[in-house]
Order: sequence, then C-alpha cells, then structure tokens
Amino acid sequence: MSAFPGPLPASNEPTGAPASHRIELQGVSSGYHGRKVLEGISFVVEEPAIYVVLGPNGAGKTTLFRTLAGILEPYTGTVRIDGIDIGREESRTRLQYLSHIDGIPDGLRVDEALRFYATVEGVGPAEVDRVVQLLGIEELRPKFFSELSQGQKKRVSIARVFLQERAIYLLDEPTSNLDPKLAREIRDLVLRLSQNHLVLYSSHNLFEAKEIGKYVLAIRDGKLGYFGLLSELRPAKYVIGIRAEGAEGILSPASKKGDYYLQELSGPEEVPRLVQELIAKGVQIREVKEMENPLEDLFT
Ligand code: ADP
Repeated sequence: MSAFPGPLPASNEPTGAPASHRIELQGVSSGYHGRKVLEGISFVVEEPAIYVVLGPNGAGKTTLFRTLAGILEPYTGTVRIDGIDIGREESRTRLQYLSHIDGIPDGLRVDEALRFYATVEGVGPAEVDRVVQLLGIEELRPKFFSELSQGQKKRVSIARVFLQERAIYLLDEPTSNLDPKLAREIRDLVLRLSQNHLVLYSSHNLFEAKEIGKYVLAIRDGKLGYFGLLSELRPAKYVIGIRAEGAEGILSPASKKGDYYLQELSGPEEVPRLVQELIAKGVQIREVKEMENPLEDLFT
C-alpha cells in the first residue's frame, strides 16, 4: 500500500514546518436528548500527532467525536477549531470524520458512492481512483455497499475520508472489523498522516494505543481521566511480581500473591538494582513482571 495520500502538497510535507492547527475544548458537556454523556471536558490539541482517545465501550468516545465534528451541539462549554466555533461551517471544513458506523447508503454501488462523495468534497474522479488504489478496493467498485463484508465496508469508509486532505482527522475506531494485516496497513497510513496532521484516533485496545499513540486522552464515564504523553504515563504505584526460589527470609512471605512476591518500587528503573541485590543474596529468580499497568488502571 502506498503512503497516504500520494504526494502531499509541498506546504504539508513533513520536512517543512507543519501548518499550525488547534482543537480547543473548554468545559464541554454533551449528550443525547438532554441526557449528559460527556461532562467537563477541556483540552487543547495542536501538535501534529496521533492522540488516542481511549476508553471502554460506553465511555463516551463516539460522543466526543460527534461533538468535535459538530454533529452534536454541546450543552455547555465551547468547541473551537483553529479558534472558530464548531457551530460555524468554516470550522467543519478543516476536518475529516470517520464514523464508526458506516454512513454510506446501502443502495449505492461503491463506485457511485465514492464519486458522489468526491463531488461533495469538491474533488475530481482522479481522487476516487487514488483512494481506491490506496485502500486496495478496485474489485469492490461495482458492488453494492449492502453486499460488502464489515471489513470491506470499513475500507470503503476509510477511502472516503482520504478523498480530500484536511488538517484534522477524527477517526473513530478505524481498525475495528479489519483483519490484522489490513489493520496494520491502516495504522501505518495514519502514522504517516500524523506527521503533519492532527489525528484523534479512538480505540478500546490498549495494545493499539501503545503502538501508535504519542498522546492519550483517556475517557471514563464521560470525563477526561488523563491527557498526556503516553510515554509519561506512570502509575501512582509501581509494583512488580518476582517468582523465585530461595527467597525465604529475604522477601517477606506476607507480600506473596500466588507464586509471586510483590515489591513496590518507585519506577522500572529500580528493577535492575533489586534483582542484583537478590541474586547477590542467593535468590534464584525465575521471572519478574509488572503487576500493575498504568493504562489499565485508568479503566478499573
Ligand atoms: P463509546 O464510543 O466510548 O463506546 P458512546 O459515546 O458511543 O461510547 O456512548 C456513550 C453513552 O452514550 C452510552 O451510554 C450510550 O448508550 C449513549 N449513546 C450513544 N449514542 C446514543 C444515541 N444516539 N442516543 C442516545 N444515547 C446514546
């Protein structure tokens, strides 16, 4: 698969200074039929990168995307794209939104649908050819959308998003329903895209978040639980489990959970020193593992 989206306009090439764009939320609450799903959401995003919006099912990720895309009007607070209120049309033209629900009418053939969306986006048929090639969906062009598998529908929906380049991409679970190989290709595409675009990418998969995200926006029960660099995410406590023989009298049996002696440390950098000390005392270490995962802590 070629890198998105073919050659980028010179001003957007990663080697140049990226154009500056900004998403700003202040005190946003939003939901459906007057019932709040999101509450008190505030953040600013302006560095080109992938921001993984992470949270369990029902946390409010899709509601956040719909609010950012201007589909849901916030009950309170403001959503601004490049300083422009999301209620105004010109702010919406700065973003592309991939809904996790396939929004393409079942009664259209893939080719017809993509040509229709190209017209809406104001681009020509050459762009349809380009995204068809990009997503490897040539053989799907004559088929009705209703005939496609979930994974094929997803590819067509992703193709639509890449018809027209925008500064900001809101991608709601772009890899759900995709086989692992295609999911990897989409992640690579999005990683390249993120070098000079703002990409919000929702997932409920911790492994995926760690693989691609530079930043994480963790949503739990409609609130922003954590926003920051994924690499700096540290637990309040760092606990390792040590499976070992000959540790009696050296490690406290009270700390034992199953086969593991639990040890609380200030961080992973302390592990080698502890291991050396134990070996020096004659302990035979079989395994050392992290017992608490800071990302998982956000969901429990
Ligand atoms: P996530 O994307 O994290 O799985 P959602 O934003 O889809 O979470 O859902 C958050 C909450 O909003 C859930 O309680 C869900 O039932 C509710 N919700 C989502 N969509 C609608 C809707 N169209 N009408 C009413 N409630 C909805």
